[in-house]
Amino acid sequence: MQLPKSRRRQKLREKKCQYPGCGKIFFGIHISKYCPEHRQDRYRIRKRTKPEDVNIKNQTFKHNYSEVITMVMNCVLEQCENQFEIKIYPRQYIYPKYCPEHRNEYKRVRHLQKIGREDLIEQMLKEGENFEIEASALAGVKEDIDVPEEALENVA
Ligand SMILES: [Zn+2]
Ligand SMILES: [Zn+2]
Repeated sequence: MQLPKSRRRQKLREKKCQYPGCGKIFFGIHISKYCPEHRQDRYRIRKRTKPEDVNIKNQTFKHNYSEVITMVMNCVLEQCENQFEIKIYPRQYIYPKYCPEHRNEYKRVRHLQKIGREDLIEQMLKEGENFEIEASALAGVKEDIDVPEEALENVA
């Protein structure tokens, strides 16, 4: 006896939605990860191309400014005295924390070697390993905040 054609289709099985905080049971094929609701586009968890830009190079600055203002910040790198200006935008809370020179990881490592703080290099690189967790917490934040400044620097 021949098997009916429908047998060849993927079998639906009980699956648990993997959307954070959902866990709803639904029927789906083996590769389904989300319940019908969380399969919709607006729930899609976006893969970020460069999450380290937000988490390592930037800081969260809570403020209530309703207009764009310019602020002078100190570079957070150990023993760097450089100050730099940033524009604070309403409802945007992620800003660079290093001076333009030290937004480059290689230069931060060089600086820390120079002042003999190899321990801080290790710590900095460890922060890099954790960035994924923070990246999801910061979903929706713009990731190229400090690009304009760097782009200007490169203009001859
Ligand atoms: Zn769900
Ligand atoms: Zn610096």
